Amino acid sequence: MIRNSIAVVLLSVVIFSACNQPEPAEKYTAKVQDIQKKVDEYAQFTLTTDMSKLSENEKLMLPYLFKCADIMEELFWLDAIGEKEEFLAKIDDPALKAYAKINYGPWDRMRGDEPFINEFGVKPVGANYYPSDITTEEFEAWDATDDVKKSWYSVIRRNEDGTLKNVPYHVAYAERIQKAANLLTEAAKYADDEGLKKYLNLRAEALLTDDYLASDLAWMDMKTNTIDFVVGPIESYEDAFMGYRSAHSGQILIKDWEWSNKVARFNALLPELQKNLPVPDAYKQEVPATSSDNNVYEVIYYAGDCNAAGKNIAINLPNDPRVHEQKGSRKLQLKNAMEAKFDKILLPIGDVLIAENQRKNVTFDAFFENVMFHEVAHGLGVKNTINGKGFVKDNLKDKYSSMEEGKADILGLFFVSQLVEMGEYPEKDLMDNYVTFMAGLFRSIRFGASSAHGKANMVRFNYFEEQGAFTKDETTGTYSVDFDKMTLAMNSLAEKIIIIQGDGDYEAAKKMIDEQGVIMPALQADLNRIEEAGIPIDIEFNQGLKVLGLE
Ligand code: ZN
Repeated sequence: MIRNSIAVVLLSVVIFSACNQPEPAEKYTAKVQDIQKKVDEYAQFTLTTDMSKLSENEKLMLPYLFKCADIMEELFWLDAIGEKEEFLAKIDDPALKAYAKINYGPWDRMRGDEPFINEFGVKPVGANYYPSDITTEEFEAWDATDDVKKSWYSVIRRNEDGTLKNVPYHVAYAERIQKAANLLTEAAKYADDEGLKKYLNLRAEALLTDDYLASDLAWMDMKTNTIDFVVGPIESYEDAFMGYRSAHSGQILIKDWEWSNKVARFNALLPELQKNLPVPDAYKQEVPATSSDNNVYEVIYYAGDCNAAGKNIAINLPNDPRVHEQKGSRKLQLKNAMEAKFDKILLPIGDVLIAENQRKNVTFDAFFENVMFHEVAHGLGVKNTINGKGFVKDNLKDKYSSMEEGKADILGLFFVSQLVEMGEYPEKDLMDNYVTFMAGLFRSIRFGASSAHGKANMVRFNYFEEQGAFTKDETTGTYSVDFDKMTLAMNSLAEKIIIIQGDGDYEAAKKMIDEQGVIMPALQADLNRIEEAGIPIDIEFNQGLKVLGLE
């Protein structure tokens, strides 16, 4: 890997001088022309909710949660590169500053982490979790326990003699972690809901100890709370070196009870759906937990990892397989974020790339279902290899995220088809889900080669093309879905992925992603047409206490 010496110097400064020393007056400059145009590719959307649904105590609690989320925001900058304010202080151009804020650093997250600031080269693959000059060989040869090497909650630094050392988050970021924990404890005092109160208190403890299990289990037990707060180190996508270390995030949510009740009934169907998976019996022996729940929310705040460039529209947590085994996982569908993406991105993409006679099949309901069942699908299939090699996640390492997201996307669609067969959806036209899925592929592939979702979508696009699941009309440049071939391709791809996971076959996963996780020239030309049409690449939120009328 080619490394830029300035990036290395900057990282060293961040690591070795924790005390906000003013740095030399060097300023960062834009590598690309018209950075404002890039900022404008993010459509503005305001995050609100019906505040009248909240009690007085809930309204009093929110400011503590917002402050705590703001600390996660700073910690995510540290996960990615270094101190937020120090970094931004080196940028004068308001547009460049805005774009650096969207991307949490100098690398364009939606464009394969290309640097857009002159003073930076290639993004260190281990972000700021590892020394920037670390190699796989050095890491693997390091005399440390597996628990330390694979820790989700620590950074790796160097001792003075150059050897590696493990620093837990609560030590590396002690001051901020203490503040965040205090805010959660304060917030808990306003919780009328016992489940929420317990979770907030345990989460405060987890931050201070880097042991998240008890708080994850408490989060699973929360059923009757209206406010929710996904907070702490959560997802591991930012660690592209090993895929172990997790990124700080803070997301504040308000439950939509009406929609939540509508989707609740699907949970009971999970074991039956597991039995119907299109794989040999050996790969569907695990029994999915039916205590998993699936609810719909409005998001009122995104901070840190969840706010970086491409915004999530659904959540499936926790990630700890020990929690999955005991209690399953929770799925949170973020309806207002989905509506933003559907209206501002998906519909306009359909108008450019979907055959005119199939555009009517691009619908919000289908989009909502595809996303909802993607999250359900994470809970199905296999968590453990079927050959005694342990957890799938540990075997597939850096390929795990791409494979798991690919599985969830394809099985999500498979489940809608199953529900139609089971008579759960009498009025449903499955073609809506197929065509909307296709339009969604174009949207997701724009996430770029660096994201797990983006790679999973490229694999799928290339596989579908090979199988004839869609055809392209060269005169209009639009795509049509072939219903029957799409069904066959969906089933066979699901089978391939689950078998790789069940076998814990790292080499097969790598081969699939290396060979198929690429953008072919014809597809690139179509993505360029989306760009030329000026369709937003993602959403940037107008958010905070003020837009909620709390300030
Ligand atoms: Zn997912």
